[in-house]
Amino acid sequence: MRPIYLDNNATTRLDPIVLGAMLPFFTESFGNASSKHAFGAAASDAVRAARRQVGELIGAASDGELIFTSSGTEADNAALLSALETQSGRDEIVVSQVEHPAVLALCQELERSGRARIHRIPVDAVGALDVEAYRRALGPRVACVSLMWANNETGVVFPIERYATLAHEAGALFHTDAVQAAGKVAIGVARTHIDFLSLSAHKLHGPKGIGALYARKGVPFAPLLRGGRQERGRRAGTENVPAIAGFGKAAELAAKALREDMPRVAALRDSLERRIVSRIEGARFVGDRGSRVPNTLMVAFEYLESDPILVALDRCGIAASSGSACASGSMGPSHVLRAMKVPYTAAHGAVRFSLSRETTAADIDRVAEALPEIINKLRLPALAVQPRLGRTAVRGGAA
Ligand code: PLP
Repeated sequence: MRPIYLDNNATTRLDPIVLGAMLPFFTESFGNASSKHAFGAAASDAVRAARRQVGELIGAASDGELIFTSSGTEADNAALLSALETQSGRDEIVVSQVEHPAVLALCQELERSGRARIHRIPVDAVGALDVEAYRRALGPRVACVSLMWANNETGVVFPIERYATLAHEAGALFHTDAVQAAGKVAIGVARTHIDFLSLSAHKLHGPKGIGALYARKGVPFAPLLRGGRQERGRRAGTENVPAIAGFGKAAELAAKALREDMPRVAALRDSLERRIVSRIEGARFVGDRGSRVPNTLMVAFEYLESDPILVALDRCGIAASSGSACASGSMGPSHVLRAMKVPYTAAHGAVRFSLSRETTAADIDRVAEALPEIINKLRLPALAVQPRLGRTAVRGGAA
């Protein structure tokens, strides 16, 4: 049976067209993009073309606003550290409680070392930001706000353009982690108050190990990596030309897929959600139906642990993921689910299904058919020791 991959928020399959765009830069066009001969020119042409393609995906006003990085993580780190360094007299950062660790772990370290004071804004039960708390945090010492465009676990989308305007009104720079948003929702960065925006190629059928930071023209920038004059002096290190070329092609394909595939992906995701929630008692939807990316579905199965569910799915050839993160060696609900105050009885059984443009209706049918039986079987041993769980048994058994 064909394996079904529904873990696209973790990473996506490299599109064969993207691989085709990368291969020449491993072989005949292997030059260093800074070299002045024909080999170098071929490489720098490829980097220039990719910068344009990635810029178009997010509606950047000029290609020069894009800096290629090694990852989304590096882009997040570079944006926040640059803002702290360039905004004199401002040593505070505002983030949400549900940011990716690429932002939260950096903030924790900045706080620990005394370099910055961090405001962590809470979210409500559907994952929406507490806007009043956000407004209150926007004091005169805030150097930068960092709010993610779309959450990697729940898919919840923040109204980023509005939050960027509020940050600018307070004189702060605004960064958004758009790693999970790019290619899934329309981004037109030029018309907004966004100063920095992070991207990662491997979330949109591009290669791993390449990301980009959009840095608005005119916004002061302090490089994270110092050395050579690559990326106009904003990111030292010989360019990873094959990966950059792949990122460019992936961005071009993602822009097309946004128009042509994402409505279908959203319909498949909604169909999976309807079937899970209607056929499995004790399956709770987690997130905000009114504001989310088209590919992500998080469901929490009450009184179950997510690991055995994922193992059973894997045995059926279905790859999904949990909402749990292994924090300090002990498994527990993720910081996102804790921030949303998802009840303890459900948070442990959270499963994320993340689709892509490669997902088919047949894939979704197979998952919707396999899951009720899996949940039913896992609940039986629990029932023997705790009869009150009978409430959560699967209605009508396997579908
Ligand atoms: N930000 C978000 C929201 C993500 O989901 C991820 C990856 O999971 C990252 C940042 C990190 O990106 P990368 O894997 O390119 O470092």
